[in-house]
Amino acid sequence: MEVIRRLADSLARCDEARATGRRVGVVPTMGAFHEGHTSLMRRARDETDLVVVTLFVNPLQFGDAADLAAYPRDEDQDRQIADEIGVDVLFAPTAEEMFPAGPPEVSVEPGALGERLEGVSRPGHFRGVATVVAKLLHAVGPARAYFGQKDAQQLAVIRSMVRDLSFPVEIVACPTVREPDGLALSSRNRRLTPEQREAAGCLFLALSEAAELARGGERDAAKLVAAMAREVGATPQARLDYAAVVDEETFDEVREISRPARALVAAAFGEVRLIDNLLLPTA
Ligand code: AMP
Repeated sequence: MEVIRRLADSLARCDEARATGRRVGVVPTMGAFHEGHTSLMRRARDETDLVVVTLFVNPLQFGDAADLAAYPRDEDQDRQIADEIGVDVLFAPTAEEMFPAGPPEVSVEPGALGERLEGVSRPGHFRGVATVVAKLLHAVGPARAYFGQKDAQQLAVIRSMVRDLSFPVEIVACPTVREPDGLALSSRNRRLTPEQREAAGCLFLALSEAAELARGGERDAAKLVAAMAREVGATPQARLDYAAVVDEETFDEVREISRPARALVAAAFGEVRLIDNLLLPTA
């Protein structure tokens, strides 16, 4: 596996592959790889010819300097994991390489979608995500880009950026990989104490309760939201941030479930904030 640090070198490597008819796939990440990340890499490996994994802990998407500083980093292990999967290129630029003139003047504004839910708790987060993903897509020029459904709102923001700004790339959504108790894998999980780790299981329990209600024919989204809030609220180590039900296509919050919809939940366990979501079954 080749490790590339410069934007120009990444583009040159991907251009060379494209010139020989190879399809380029990209998996954007912030590192500290777990099986959620590797599932995306394997899918890219199966479906494209040159697999590029980007590793960049994006300062633009962190509102809080302490959260950025505490974000887990382990590039040596990440290199080993990506290499074993058969990733061709690890593109791991420095912040100076990405933003030599400091924070960018021009950015990608995700609009109203970026201001709801996660956007309320993390103002500017999705602008930071969209701006960096745009740069990474330009540095690779992939036919396909792989994202996890674990970050459903991020996926919706990227899809609307690609649609509205005509990025020539197909966005591939990949299912959430979970621990046996249902907790979605996340780089942040390694910062949980054993008690917080146990408590964090309440996120998937809450989502499963919402799914059970939907499966039983409940159409009133407020009932699902209340059930999720109750489950998280009853967990001593958890502080609920939000529970919501959104339309699967528009990501608008819904009152009545009449089309495919997704339940979302966010909560903090000590200093660690976790999010999760589940597509609701149709009754
Ligand atoms: P991150 O490094 O957290 O920015 O995540 C990089 C990519 O991996 C994003 O597209 C995430 O949605 C995806 N991802 C993170 N956790 C999981 C998971 N548990 N299952 C599937 N994909 C995931």
